[in-house]
Amino acid sequence: MLLVPESVKSAINLIISKNTLSSTYLFHGGLGSFSTKAAMYFGFCLFCNQQNFQGNCQACSNCKKIESEHFPDMITLPNSGTLKIDNIRTLQDRIKYGPSNSSKLLVIIPNCERFTTESSNAILKTLEEPPKNVIFILTTHSWKSVPLTIQSRSQTFFIPKTPIKNIKSYIEDKYNFNFNSYPLTYSLLNYLIQHKGVCPDSYKSFFSFSKLSSHERILYASSISKDKLFLKPLLYSWLEEIQNETPPNLSVSNHIISTIKSLNYNVNSQLQLENLFINHL
Ligand SMILES: [Zn+2]
Repeated sequence: MLLVPESVKSAINLIISKNTLSSTYLFHGGLGSFSTKAAMYFGFCLFCNQQNFQGNCQACSNCKKIESEHFPDMITLPNSGTLKIDNIRTLQDRIKYGPSNSSKLLVIIPNCERFTTESSNAILKTLEEPPKNVIFILTTHSWKSVPLTIQSRSQTFFIPKTPIKNIKSYIEDKYNFNFNSYPLTYSLLNYLIQHKGVCPDSYKSFFSFSKLSSHERILYASSISKDKLFLKPLLYSWLEEIQNETPPNLSVSNHIISTIKSLNYNVNSQLQLENLFINHL
């Protein structure tokens, strides 16, 4: 939970420990803030069996189920693509009877500026008359793009930027990686997070990538292929890792370099990545 600033954690802990819950929250902050991570933190505090309001205790059954995305009373909508009317109808069907095993049901809607007019009207109806014991957290980096009607139904909650040193520690812990050996990678990642809002979860070091199965590599290619601003810095950071090895693997380096070059043209980047990930790395 390094990505959630302490001030946000304290505010969330207070809301949950005092049981002063609203039915709808709008978590918003600029690029470099992790409002969906803050919403996850809220979920852990709400459902953790230990009730110590410290986020994921990593020990109780509820926290483990939330971590593996198998907790029935916490629903997170996909974080990319348009939020269409069908997405909202499916959600409405799922939540109409309230929580199944817990006292609350939490619905997280990341990047909620993605509603269409139709889906925004549909969700608004639900927010106006929410099913009993259902809590919504909508998150956004673009507060002004959220319809005023939704803003006015929500308790707004500002999420400040996460300090870069916390993001660095988060990635180092997650991937067992030490940025001190990779200064170029660190500065590229710093730039991406501060200016493009790249979430560290979309970053993988080459070392951690190389442990993925073929199926996981295909999924990774699919998840990052649309984000060209992210792809090239990612591949450059892998080059840095490979060139730090002794001896560096020149064949792998050359395949990465030719993929970086091909991304400059209007190519199908997903196919390019799949070819690189499966056949050459
Ligand atoms: Zn727990």
